[in-house]
Amino acid sequence: MTRINCLLFTVILMVMAVSSPYVAAKTEVPQVYRFVSNETAYEANAYLLKTNQGWLLFDSLMLKSDVEPIIATIKASKLPLLGIFITHPHVDHFAGVAPIVAALGEVPVYATAKTRTDLIAEHQNAIKAGWLEVFGEDYERTLVAPNKELKDGELLEIAGISVKVIELGAGEAANHTLFIVPQLQQAFSGDALVASYAIYVGEGRSAELLALYDKVQPLLQAVKLVRPGHGGAMEPGRIVESNRQQVVMMREAAQHVLAQQTQTPDSAPPNSVLQRQLTQQIVTKLNAISSYGMPLPQLIGGYNSAGLLNEISKANELRKKSDVRQ
Ligand SMILES: [Zn+2]
Repeated sequence: MTRINCLLFTVILMVMAVSSPYVAAKTEVPQVYRFVSNETAYEANAYLLKTNQGWLLFDSLMLKSDVEPIIATIKASKLPLLGIFITHPHVDHFAGVAPIVAALGEVPVYATAKTRTDLIAEHQNAIKAGWLEVFGEDYERTLVAPNKELKDGELLEIAGISVKVIELGAGEAANHTLFIVPQLQQAFSGDALVASYAIYVGEGRSAELLALYDKVQPLLQAVKLVRPGHGGAMEPGRIVESNRQQVVMMREAAQHVLAQQTQTPDSAPPNSVLQRQLTQQIVTKLNAISSYGMPLPQLIGGYNSAGLLNEISKANELRKKSDVRQ
């Protein structure tokens, strides 16, 4: 190396040394921490993302006891919580916002207008229906609703983390938002997708779920991992396909059970019998799958069968009517 080249090389090294901390800060890849609520709170996931500027939280679990480890992690870091993102309006994913804010102070809580409206209604209905009583003081009855409205397609930059917002529409819940973090090549799906869990179709939107899978599949092409609302991280193609197969199976089982009604209309079994039969069929086909901390037959029988039968029989009725008209 000539003396001039050697000098040039030294200068380049010095420039790199000076500029590298800046480059590192700009391109810092956030660290992801997963938190899982206990089985009485449906084994839901929340994810903390950390950079040297602070934390972002995706979903918030439900109970005060669920969020204690999240609060402790943030406090120990001495870094601020800079935002909470809510994926969908189900209590096991948003009710933890209140105790987190009580412990850490005001924080922007991001959700779409639809999710905000529906989660307020969901919280009020849950309290009215009384099923939260079982959690006692562990459920914070004062709701902290989202205070920052998200729009479909927007890209936010917080704490050095980019968050792409995509509205997926109705599915397991009345509406879902997908959050993509390009720096991680990961998507945070809430319950739009679940990993090795029985899919909740009790609100009667299995058809919408199938449409959601069609919509989300191409959106996940830029992503290497999906971090779902329940279960571990999974590769996008696998999670979408496994969810689709499960919903198709449950819909076919419902059709099969309902077919008895049309074959023998006079002696058709009552709804309770159909529900029991459907539960049995689904349970035998769902091997090695998690069920939110309760026995699988209890989950399918208590939460899924009635809503699914109702949805499929209504759709059949509509189809029959339109066939008659044609
Ligand atoms: Zn959930």
